[in-house]
Amino acid sequence: MSEISLEGHAHRGCGGRYTARTDEVQIKVSGMAATVERTRYECDHCGDAQYTVEQRDQAEQRAVESIRTTYGLMTPREIRRLRESLGLTPEQFGHLLYGTPRGVVEGWERGRYLQNQDADALMRSLTDRATLERRASRGGVTLPVVVPPEAATRAATSAATSAATAQAPGWDAVAVMEVVPAPDSGNGHHPAAAEP
Ligand SMILES: [Zn+2]
Repeated sequence: MSEISLEGHAHRGCGGRYTARTDEVQIKVSGMAATVERTRYECDHCGDAQYTVEQRDQAEQRAVESIRTTYGLMTPREIRRLRESLGLTPEQFGHLLYGTPRGVVEGWERGRYLQNQDADALMRSLTDRATLERRASRGGVTLPVVVPPEAATRAATSAATSAATAQAPGWDAVAVMEVVPAPDSGNGHHPAAAEP
């Protein structure tokens, strides 16, 4: 899909023209927030703001990457590698994470959802064999007979150990995009309400 540009386009019924402007917004994903730049088209006459799909996606992707880095969360690829190294299906993997639905696991692996810190720590804790076995028995999952040595011997970090007692990640592990203006970027325009 090619970028749709409103640059220079007339605002119908207003007489103004749209130009690209960049502001800072705070975007919340799975309860974690990042402040990122977002470009929009704004009418130079009435201030009406329009966002293209690309502009929204770009800002969300920036936020996700920023949050991932800030909180040290696993990448989609790392999650899939971890699951595969344990020889588990997405569904089984979810059972070991207190019943996280398969669709959510697949969403994490495709970068469609962003796991929160609790879910991230829970996943990492599965590299500890004792934790893995305990969760498997609790989740009714039969582990593959042969576990790759890599997965069995990978050292459990202190984070993994503490995560073993953590609560279920629940639905807040699912990405929920929430966009609010950054504290200092408001321009006071509420043009939509002023439109006929
Ligand atoms: Zn206008």
